[in-house]
Order: sequence, then structure tokens, then C-alpha cells
Amino acid sequence: MPLYIVATPIGNLEDFTFRGVKVLQQVDQILCEDTRHSLPLLQRYDIHKPLSPYHDFNKQKATPGIIKQLRNGETLALITDAGTPGISDPAFYLVRACVEAGIPVIPIPGPSAGIAALVASGLPTDRFCFEGFLPTKKGRKKRLEKLKEEDRTIIFYEAPHRIERTLREIAQHLGDRKVVIAREITKMHEEYIRGRISEITGQFKYKGEMVIIIEGNK
Ligand code: SAM
Repeated sequence: MPLYIVATPIGNLEDFTFRGVKVLQQVDQILCEDTRHSLPLLQRYDIHKPLSPYHDFNKQKATPGIIKQLRNGETLALITDAGTPGISDPAFYLVRACVEAGIPVIPIPGPSAGIAALVASGLPTDRFCFEGFLPTKKGRKKRLEKLKEEDRTIIFYEAPHRIERTLREIAQHLGDRKVVIAREITKMHEEYIRGRISEITGQFKYKGEMVIIIEGNK
């Protein structure tokens, strides 16, 4: 006990908090989505702790054992591939199980792609909603239809190969709104593409990780 939820950089490795590093250096074990992915970051910060995988494909099987470790007095930290665990990744599953088991959960805040994109977007930030990933098949249309009247700025995550299709479908259901594509935030090719959805999708040539920010219904 407890479980620490530690945010890690979303690109630039310097975006790691002092406290995040300190906690990871002190815990008994670190749970991470992909050990190969997290290893360079951990080595760079002199963090040498046992790593154990925790991802969408093993979360159900792994959770009871983790709860047992925590109950036995071990201190664990959960990190994900990038950003704040719990935001569009498997962390929620473990946090819920800890809460149900009465195990303290302590967040160590840091970067999150959606918030970074929002604050640089130039679209209103006083009220916003986070939609994460749209369903890839069933329920996609329904979700977009529900968002038609949403008047807050909307944040979407999307996989690079689906961005163009998603933008076209957002335009179909919500109209040709103002959009900001925040691409490769904190990385070498960081870029903010602003315009109407129709202006961007016409000649879509962008690569890498992206957040889509859409203006709310006026
Ligand atoms: N937990 C993470 C967070 O706090 O931002 C998000 C994890 S989610 C699985 C991955 C998605 O976040 C990507 O598909 C992309 O939409 C967005 N993302 C992550 N890093 C990014 C970056 N450097 N630039 C733009 N978008 C990024």
C-alpha cells in the first residue's frame, strides 16, 4: 500500500516531474503497459525497479494478484506508455479495484495530451468535455449524434490511421466546425493545424500522434 498513479512524458522526456521520478525510485515495483517502451525513460532517470506488465490484454487476470501484493504491504506505481494513467488507457480498471478493496490510490500529476492540446488550441477552455477515442465500429454514429448540441469545446483522441475518417465523420454529424489538430505535442515535429474541418481534410498529409479539438455548438 498505496498504489501511486504516476504521469510520464508524452514525448519530450524532460517533462517528468521531480516527484514522479522520486516515487518511481522508491516503490517496490512498477506496473507499465509496455516494459520495452518504458525502459528507456526509466533508465534515463536512474530508476531500476522490477517492472511488471499491466495492459488491456492482461488487466483482468493481473488485477487480483496486484491487489494481494498491495494488501501485503508492497508499494506499487502504475505508469502507462505516455501521459497520465487513467486517461484512455487501462489504469481505470486497477484504480477501481483498489478503491473497492480500500487501498489508497495517490496520483502524481503530470502531462496529458488532451489538456496540452486544449490550452494551445485557441478554442475556449473555460468549459470543455473529453470524449477520448470514438468507438471504432458499433456506437460511433450514436456518439457523434449525441454531441451535436454539445456547446463546450470537445477533445478527441484518435489513432493516426483513423484521423482523416474521424474528421470527416465529425463534420458529417456536427457540421463544418473549427478544428485544431495538435500533432506530436512536445516532440520534434510538434505542430498545431487550425481551420475548418473541410479545409484540413481536403489535403490531409499529417502523420504521428494527434489530438483533435473541436469547437462547441454555437
Ligand atoms: N494517457 C494519455 C494521456 O494522458 O494523454 C493518453 C493515452 S491514449 C492511449 C493515446 C492517445 O493520446 C493518442 O492516440 C493521441 O491521440 C494522444 N497523444 C498521446 N501523446 C501525444 C502527443 N505527443 N501528441 C499528440 N497526441 C498525443
